Amino acid sequence: MVLKKDSNSFNSEQEKSQNEDPSPLELKNLENKKEIESQPLEVSEGNYNENGFIDFGFNQSILSSLRNKGYKNPTPIQKAAIPELMLGRDLLGQAQTGTGKTAAFALPLIEKLADNKELNAKVLVMTPTRELATQVAESFKSYSSESSNFKTVAIYGGTDYRNQISALKRKVDVVVGTPGRIMDHIRQGTFKIKDINCLVLDEADEMLNMGFLEDIEWIIDQLPENKQMVLFSATMPTEIRNIAKKYLNDPAEILIKSVKKETQLISQKFLYVQRHHKLDALKRILELNNEGVIIFVRTKLLTTSIAEALENSGHTVAVLNGDIPQNQRENTVDRLKKGFIDILVATDVAARGLDVERIKLVVNYDFPFDKETYTHRIGRTGRAGRSGEAILFVNQREKHFLRNLENSTRTTIEEINIPSNKIINEKRMEKLLENVNDSSLAKDENEENKALIIDVLDNLKEKYSMDDTNIAMAAINLVIGNKSFFVNEDDSWIHKQNNTDRNRLNRNSNNRMRNSNRRNNYQNDSFETYKFNFGKYDGVRVANIISSICNSTNINGRSIGKIQIFNDYSLVDLPRDLHRETKNKLKKIKVRN
Ligand code: AMP
Repeated sequence: MVLKKDSNSFNSEQEKSQNEDPSPLELKNLENKKEIESQPLEVSEGNYNENGFIDFGFNQSILSSLRNKGYKNPTPIQKAAIPELMLGRDLLGQAQTGTGKTAAFALPLIEKLADNKELNAKVLVMTPTRELATQVAESFKSYSSESSNFKTVAIYGGTDYRNQISALKRKVDVVVGTPGRIMDHIRQGTFKIKDINCLVLDEADEMLNMGFLEDIEWIIDQLPENKQMVLFSATMPTEIRNIAKKYLNDPAEILIKSVKKETQLISQKFLYVQRHHKLDALKRILELNNEGVIIFVRTKLLTTSIAEALENSGHTVAVLNGDIPQNQRENTVDRLKKGFIDILVATDVAARGLDVERIKLVVNYDFPFDKETYTHRIGRTGRAGRSGEAILFVNQREKHFLRNLENSTRTTIEEINIPSNKIINEKRMEKLLENVNDSSLAKDENEENKALIIDVLDNLKEKYSMDDTNIAMAAINLVIGNKSFFVNEDDSWIHKQNNTDRNRLNRNSNNRMRNSNRRNNYQNDSFETYKFNFGKYDGVRVANIISSICNSTNINGRSIGKIQIFNDYSLVDLPRDLHRETKNKLKKIKVRN
């Protein structure tokens, strides 16, 4: 299967209008179209109040499973979609993953199937990928965990037919699957579809991108005519609207304007890095954050080589790509969820729909093909209302894509620098302090153990004449191991890059100002703060300071860092290691005469 993507599509005005133009469908119930602002999901802490779901009229089994899941209140998409689906209406929903859309269609369908005694499936859910199929099936299973004799089966490619066939032979209520495998089972007669009375197309735009349109239409044509149809899509390109027009009957239309809100929880950053420094830059980023990370790369080959390199640096890593058998992929995701693996190196297709709450950082090691891919990638973090971070690697050639990406997603992606030795070493020190403090004996409740360790200490003091400091140092050395604790590889390329290559990115002055504001995190060490004795009382503004510095010295405006103006003085971050002559010129600088 080939992804039909256009690497230049950030530029595509056509795509922009397809995806963002909320121009309504020519459907009968336009006046009923609901546009809803999404909010972060609430995750239960402590007392559970199920009132939020009671009004939908769900049976006790569903309410009980929601209680077990810790869901307090319905999300906006659930509030809007559940009543419509309970009434049996068709539904066209524009919503991203992370909005709670799975429960929005799963809960009412489970409710409607509560007393189903028939053997054949009544609901079919189609998803673009195996991963999403597994996830949606898991959601159905957990929401119906308290409902007796409710069966959900997932059917997708890459796994043996036999288990799927025998599962489909027994009683089944919901079948979730990918188009190719669904077609196979229908053709072979192993999936009986005559009782299907509801079809859900999940992530329809993604199915379209993956070239499934014909398959979807073929499947729809095989299903009984009289059925409820639900179509969810993150974007609404014309093709999706056409499918909706063709197959949906008087649908309720819901638009969750969530793209901004949801991605706001994700702090989006980019760093400029030349191709040959990418792996080093990645390792440096992982020094600051290495628990719950997904790294996106373009090729399967790269997933393995990067994973190997990271493993050699001591990380717990796994690979997710199309070559890995399905059961192994499921196992990998499970281990990631449980914390046995910290880092996943994945290709886009393999990581579609991945929903792992502990993902805190997404690294776009290779630039994404288009904005949908980018949005999907970064959406692997910031799940269920949590916050997350996404870092995009950009090289000189990709700078135009970066600007187009910012425009088309209407977000600001902030620039950061590759962490230098100084930053990394500070972080290592911080971690060491935490670790030593966490494992301090005072916290050990076992008195017997304590006594034994104190014996060891006494022995060290008496037998080897070690004092407290020596013992502590030796213990720390043991923790650190043989390798050098501090990084001391040559990092001059980072400093050079910060001062020169960033300038070449040639971003507009707004971006420059924006960048300077967040230089606190990674960049402090490449700047030095200069104090000037002019300030607000002198009527000085940022623009005056920049132009004076640039006019009086050879300092480029883009390499000026943070500027803070106080009443009678100003602080300006300037590149470290300025030439003495430049420093002298700075001393004589005049602003607004
Ligand atoms: P989805 O958009 O269906 O992929 O769901 C995103 C995440 O939100 C999943 O981890 C769900 O378990 C979680 N979720 C869905 N509905 C709720 C809710 N009402 N309250 C809390 N979490 C929810």
